[in-house]
Amino acid sequence: MARIPNHVFVVDDDLCYGCGACIALCPVDALTLDSLLAIVDEPTCTHCEHCIPACPVFALEIKEADSA
Ligand code: SF4
Ligand code: SF4
Repeated sequence: MARIPNHVFVVDDDLCYGCGACIALCPVDALTLDSLLAIVDEPTCTHCEHCIPACPVFALEIKEADSA
């Protein structure tokens, strides 16, 4: 699984409420929960997008690095 060049995986802090749905889905354990907020270890993320549809509030996104 290749990362998308010039893109970063981001969690929208304002939207995430810490439900944890995304965390169990990540095959490389790039996500952790900290005080009801999902935190990504971005260099570990493979940009596989598995977690993205699982978020009920659409807090997960892969963005162009410049606009992140
Ligand atoms: S995009 Fe894939 S690797 Fe990155 S945090 Fe989500 S499930 Fe994990
Ligand atoms: S699924 Fe969405 S709301 Fe739930 S912990 Fe992950 S980013 Fe936050």
